[in-house]
Amino acid sequence: MNIILLGPPGAGKGTQAKQIVDLVSIPQISTGDMLRVAVNKETKLGLEAKQFMDNGQLVPDSVVIGLVKERLFESDCDNGFMLDGFPRTVKQAETLDSVLKEASKHIDYVILLDVDDNEIVERITGRRTCPKCGAIYHLKYNKPPAEDLCNCGHKGLSHRADDNKETVINRLDAYHKQTSPLSDYYREFNLLKTIKGTGKSPVQVFEEIKELFSL
Ligand code: AMP
Repeated sequence: MNIILLGPPGAGKGTQAKQIVDLVSIPQISTGDMLRVAVNKETKLGLEAKQFMDNGQLVPDSVVIGLVKERLFESDCDNGFMLDGFPRTVKQAETLDSVLKEASKHIDYVILLDVDDNEIVERITGRRTCPKCGAIYHLKYNKPPAEDLCNCGHKGLSHRADDNKETVINRLDAYHKQTSPLSDYYREFNLLKTIKGTGKSPVQVFEEIKELFSL
């Protein structure tokens, strides 16, 4: 099963992706996570990406496409993959199509998690992540078991550098201008399934995703 998760920043893509990959045993490919690793390691690519990420702008297509192309051909993707945060531009989507076509593969599902802008800012500013296992929490809606403690036992949850009010405005702007045209792109191929996430808990959204897959 080859799946794409679309949606604005803070829509719950990462949270849902983690649950879906556990359910259907395919790897999660998050370009945001891959870029953050490169930024932390201070690689050439990471240093280039950082300036865009810090400003809430998209990293250039050429950089991201290169990363994903390599990852898609690793052996754990042979039976499927879940793309989280990619594609984010029509150019990325077109390149993905041609790369998959060459490998006689195709996308089976595109799930759009749709959340209103006014809910996004609150979701993002309250988001915390476990640096050890990647679990995602919200200080109000999806609380960690104790302050600063992850379910995996790790103490010390982190707040992403770009999860602040100012950067979120730019990230939403990039989403509406560059990423939302992808809804029409995939609707034309009859692949798009939209799930309204506004006002819903992660559990409710996951139930709706399972219904889509008839699981
Ligand atoms: P995310 O973790 O998906 O919210 O991504 C964090 C940041 O990484 C974004 O705001 C972009 O700067 C960058 N990024 C992640 N995925 C992409 C992509 N597919 N294309 C361009 N930039 C990306």
